Amino acid sequence: MTQQFQHDVLVIGSGAAGLSLALNLPSDVRVAVLSKGDLHNGSTFWAQGGVAAVLDDTDTVQSHVEDTLNAGGGLCHEDAVRFTVEHSREAIEWLIAQGVPFTRDDSSEHDDGHFEYHLTREGGHSHRRIIHAADATGAAIFTALLEQARQRPNIELLEQRVAVDLITERRLGLSGDRCLGAYVLDRRSGEVDTFGARFTIVATGGAAKVYLYTSNPDGACGDGIAMAWRAGCRVANLEFNQFHPTCLYHPQAKSFLVTEALRGEGAILKLPNGDRFMPRFDPRGELAPRDIVARAIDHEMKRLGVDCVYLDISHKPAEFVKAHFPTVYERCLTFGIDITRQPIPVVPAAHYTCGGVMVDQQGRTDVPGLYAIGETSFTGLHGANRMASNSLLECFVYGRSAAADIIAQLPSTPMPEQLPRWDASQVTDSDEDVIIAHNWDELRRFMWDYVGIVRTTKRLQRAQHRVRLLLDEIDEFYSNYKVSRDLIELRNLAQVAELMIRSAMERKESRGLHYTLDYPLMLDEAVDTVLDPNTAV
Ligand SMILES: Cc1cc2nc3c(=O)[nH]c(=O)nc-3n(C[C@H](O)[C@H](O)[C@H](O)COP(=O)(O)OP(=O)(O)OC[C@H]3O[C@@H](n4cnc5c(N)ncnc54)[C@H](O)[C@@H]3O)c2cc1C
Repeated sequence: MTQQFQHDVLVIGSGAAGLSLALNLPSDVRVAVLSKGDLHNGSTFWAQGGVAAVLDDTDTVQSHVEDTLNAGGGLCHEDAVRFTVEHSREAIEWLIAQGVPFTRDDSSEHDDGHFEYHLTREGGHSHRRIIHAADATGAAIFTALLEQARQRPNIELLEQRVAVDLITERRLGLSGDRCLGAYVLDRRSGEVDTFGARFTIVATGGAAKVYLYTSNPDGACGDGIAMAWRAGCRVANLEFNQFHPTCLYHPQAKSFLVTEALRGEGAILKLPNGDRFMPRFDPRGELAPRDIVARAIDHEMKRLGVDCVYLDISHKPAEFVKAHFPTVYERCLTFGIDITRQPIPVVPAAHYTCGGVMVDQQGRTDVPGLYAIGETSFTGLHGANRMASNSLLECFVYGRSAAADIIAQLPSTPMPEQLPRWDASQVTDSDEDVIIAHNWDELRRFMWDYVGIVRTTKRLQRAQHRVRLLLDEIDEFYSNYKVSRDLIELRNLAQVAELMIRSAMERKESRGLHYTLDYPLMLDEAVDTVLDPNTAV
């Protein structure tokens, strides 16, 4: 039997964005936070590096703003960048108050303007401004925020709940287009329950799982982007997908990043025949920026028709390698690769979704009552290329600003009346799950081959043709069979893939992370790619 729930605020997603928003609401506001798997299954838990913020007195807001604008290839919205950076210090202070154990800087003199926590520097940042908790910052942040949320009686943390679709007045045939909540699959009962809410937030993370190789955990299927699109929200700049150049290539190694620090310490990228290739692409060789290295690897893999290239640090003394890279050493060894003696098979992997659901500085989407925050959203911060460690910052800044906006609106926003239950009377159990598995593989493979790091118009057209066939098949399947997590994710992945392809086809230039052989030059004017579900194609 399906169930009906009512909350003041429904937060779909328990990562950095969702938890920040929930914790910034007062204790008399009833909040549900959903996760489609265990609570920690988003990207947040896996973030290693840290959070960028202006913390040291020698750093300035202007410098962080300029660095972000430079990285963004002319497409950052300066107001969004400034807003985010100006709120960075208070976001970090809030995290510290929640108990996040950031690594301290024991060496610095704290009375001369040095910040008392250790700050590192990452690519693109002209100052030390990355606050971190050793090399497991995401886990430290997530654990502290979850601990706080568990202590708050007004916050219900609900695992194994997969939001299927948003409920809007428009969907119910009512006048207006306010969001009233969501239909949510309870994976334990197999039933789809109705969650009514005065405010609904999609904080569902990115969509990197649309590609065959990704650094993201399994749930990064763009659910929030697809749901918001179906509910009537515009999306922007979905052609900009950031690829990490070196992810371990091994059938059993899911999503393991081989840190860039290896290249920093002299590791060499090689073809299967042992030849070094990076100097042919950039005078900086292996130390060229991420997108250039990823593009070079992709080029060589496509040219030679090989499944991976190799990253070799075996020329360094074994003790040095083990001491500097214990995690990579141990992890590779579990797959039978001794990196002190053998090269590591690597492929680039989809890492971050720069585009998303269009929002304002309070995280408000086009649909009243619906907010989007974190990697799901498009705030204008990242432009055509995300700068390292700005993404977690965005989660906290917008989580807090969205909460403040909701608090201001709560007194004048009634609870939606009883909503209709999910209708499963016309569907049966599927006896053809092979179709889901097949379509899932096919989608991720052609997205990798045709809509990956280097694009051409012909490849994009092929991908568009295929994704439209898949969408038809999936729609038919969806109409006839009971929903499952796999089916919901496949439907959303295909929808987001279609939007990514369409966005890539609209951009007739190469800019930032979007590179096409047919339009290799950057146009003078930088324009966002905005897609509107209310405009017919
Ligand atoms: C390996 C790795 C390292 C990274 N390192 C850094 C770093 O050092 N610094 C940095 O700034 N960024 C880093 N990033 C990026 C950053 O971690 C993410 O952008 C950020 O954590 C996203 O947070 P989020 O809250 O938006 O989403 P996530 O943390 O991805 O959380 C998404 C949540 O939504 C839930 N969800 C999704 N769909 C549904 C649904 N249909 N129904 C119910 N729940 C749903 C999931 O269960 C999950 O709880 C890294 C990413 C990866 C993968």
